[in-house]
Amino acid sequence: MNEYVKEVNPMSEKAIKDHFGRTLKDLRISVIDKCNFRCSYCMPKEIFGDDYPFLPESELLSFEEITRLAKSFAELGVEKIRITGGEPLLRKNLDQLIMELNKIPGIHDIALTTNGIFLPRKAKKLKEAGLKRVNISLDAIDDEVFKAINGKGVVTLPVLKGIEAAQKAGLKVKINMVVKKGMNDNQILPMARYFKGKDIILRYIEFMDVGNHNGWDMDNVISKKQIIDQINEEMPLEPADENYYGEVASRYRYIDGDGEIGVISSVTESFCGTCTRIRLSADGKLYTCLFASSGYDIRRELREGLTEEQLKENLASLWHQRKDRYSDERTEQISKNKKKIEMSYIGG
Ligand code: SAM
Ligand code: SF4
Ligand code: SF4
Repeated sequence: MNEYVKEVNPMSEKAIKDHFGRTLKDLRISVIDKCNFRCSYCMPKEIFGDDYPFLPESELLSFEEITRLAKSFAELGVEKIRITGGEPLLRKNLDQLIMELNKIPGIHDIALTTNGIFLPRKAKKLKEAGLKRVNISLDAIDDEVFKAINGKGVVTLPVLKGIEAAQKAGLKVKINMVVKKGMNDNQILPMARYFKGKDIILRYIEFMDVGNHNGWDMDNVISKKQIIDQINEEMPLEPADENYYGEVASRYRYIDGDGEIGVISSVTESFCGTCTRIRLSADGKLYTCLFASSGYDIRRELREGLTEEQLKENLASLWHQRKDRYSDERTEQISKNKKKIEMSYIGG
């Protein structure tokens, strides 16, 4: 069975392992399913219209419930937390949640993925609460291309202001750019040129078949190789070592020393063998894979009053049973037509 695992993290003593020997290290928490954008590859506006049934507030996990779960996960070896959504900055008082998560022993890294629009108002408070890093999504530097993608006609300026505010607040910033053929592949070079030398890592993400509504087709995927070749031709690159075990992005440095880029190649070079992530949806379902069809209802158990000990036992048992390796299977062409959760619901 362990032949499948490329390398097992030798680190933590607390580490619990799944069926394939992968340790649990990262918890991704979606705090809301709503979003102020309608990105065509994530929440296409034709489907996520005005009458879309988003979760009512009573169904969202409270900050107390999230913190309780995070504490339990930390006791099982989780060290990193990423807050996501929907658009996580639409959740009221998010800084208070971050402050609570920051107090948990064992959690040494809290990050956030956002579309950046609300950062000018919120970056400082988030940083003060203990946030270390933000990944800001920006799929184009050209206004017309960006307007068409985000489905709300928003130009790039408010996102660029969000990036500036995050940097000013002392947060480390990375940019996420999903690349889809015909949507924004003409932005690969302009984005690289724009962010080169700005102390910001731009990460290109291969368009993924998440959810059931984004019209994914392998023909629309621009591969890591195509991205790197294109940039390398104009701005020569060399590969760099991974920063830590299980890093999802392959790193490349500009040879002239002017920074680096990353590529997340979940489609053409999948990395399930080192996947140490569990995901918590805004309504309290746990998913051991981004491409899972169903989640484990931990909210029900929390609200039914399970003890700390039972909680830890149930979380550990969920991880022990984990056999997910969807992207590797995709590569092997054996998982076609499976119904999956939406990206806007689980948060990437
Ligand atoms: N709203 C926030 C944002 O856009 O950063 C957080 C949630 S969003 C679902 C998290 C990340 O998933 C974003 O960087 C987004 O670009 C990425 N994403 C969404 N759908 C995707 C897809 N089909 N393929 C690849 N990445 C996707
Ligand atoms: Fe919203 Fe982020 Fe999805 Fe875009 S990618 S629709 S900003 S959740
Ligand atoms: Fe992890 Fe699932 Fe993605 Fe593989 S497909 S890397 S198991 S989330």
